[in-house]
Amino acid sequence: MKKIWLSSPHMGNAERAFVESAFDTNWVAPLGPNVDGFEQDLSLFTNVPYAAVLSSGTAALHLALILAGVEKEDRVLCQSFTFSASANPVVYLGATPVFIDSEADSWNMDPELLEKAIRECIGQKKKPKAIIPVHLYGMPAKMDAIMRLARKYEITVIEDAAEALGSMYQQKQCGSLGDMGVLSFNGNKIITTSSGGALLSAQETWITHARFLATQARDPAPHYQHSHIGYNYRMSNILAGIGRGQMKVLGERVQQRRRNFETYRNAFAQFDGIAFQQEGPDSFSNRWLTSIIIDPAKQKGITREDIRLGLEKENIETRPLWKPMHRQPVFADAPSYTNGTSEKLFNNGLCLPSGSNLTSEDLDRVIKAIQKILK
Ligand SMILES: *Cc1c(COP(=O)(O)O)cnc(C)c1O
Repeated sequence: MKKIWLSSPHMGNAERAFVESAFDTNWVAPLGPNVDGFEQDLSLFTNVPYAAVLSSGTAALHLALILAGVEKEDRVLCQSFTFSASANPVVYLGATPVFIDSEADSWNMDPELLEKAIRECIGQKKKPKAIIPVHLYGMPAKMDAIMRLARKYEITVIEDAAEALGSMYQQKQCGSLGDMGVLSFNGNKIITTSSGGALLSAQETWITHARFLATQARDPAPHYQHSHIGYNYRMSNILAGIGRGQMKVLGERVQQRRRNFETYRNAFAQFDGIAFQQEGPDSFSNRWLTSIIIDPAKQKGITREDIRLGLEKENIETRPLWKPMHRQPVFADAPSYTNGTSEKLFNNGLCLPSGSNLTSEDLDRVIKAIQKILK
């Protein structure tokens, strides 16, 4: 039986030509026409004036935190229910992440807990330098409320849209909603450059400075001179060529992933105790990953682990939802504001195969295998 992956790369027809043109013109470096072209494509798509393509989403978050002025011993408010890459760069800078739990609707940062955390940090004379909300599995966070708080307390918002390219909130593209937006093009994301990321902002000086820091912070001089610590974070012109090709199929990829979600939802609509991440009235999700929440009390004690292991035997890859950062051993000492939502989702949730390249036979196999376990 063929392996069915959770989310695997899905190339279109144009990537190879962009990569070949890089070879033909010898732009085999972290600069060149594909880098410029990919940045323009991203700006146009997200409607954010400036974009810098980088070696990863993690690198984009790291630079965003530096641009936001985060330094040693500062505090940064970070969504707890996320992949560790949202929080790790805070620690790279010697700052402390303060984790905020999710609300039950979007599964993302709870604005009420966020305000409580901001007030308490200010009370301790440790006003946070940045807020990192995440659009988990492509579902937009409640950005309206989050941005209102950020403006009220004057804190920079770094929007982690790594999973949400092509998602929208109040008709605006994810990545364009915060002061800075972060994208990822890792192999499992909705579009991929094999590895890569981008930083977006309407503030030109930030993006110019991000490009400077990402290329070893070289001062203008004929020799190598440095007044800042630099990084080697720029995207290669080869990989940017893949990105330009992938941008041509992004719209189609969103539709394919949304169809996967509809297929799963229709298949399990009649099952009691199976729930899905819900799209709110303000939201349009790219449905990067579809997950189910299993209530064992309503499913004869069947847990998400029973389903995961059952599918593994059928050569089908699934994965528990993200384990919240406030429950990770590495962040045991970090302050957190919790309400039990992310922990419950982690305990009962399972991400299903969601690639845009799944065939209807693949989806059928996954659905039949789950139905067999539930029966
Ligand atoms: C993938 C991901 C990142 C990191 O992106 P990389 O390109 O893998 O470094 C950051 N945040 C979230 C929520 C992600 O899913």
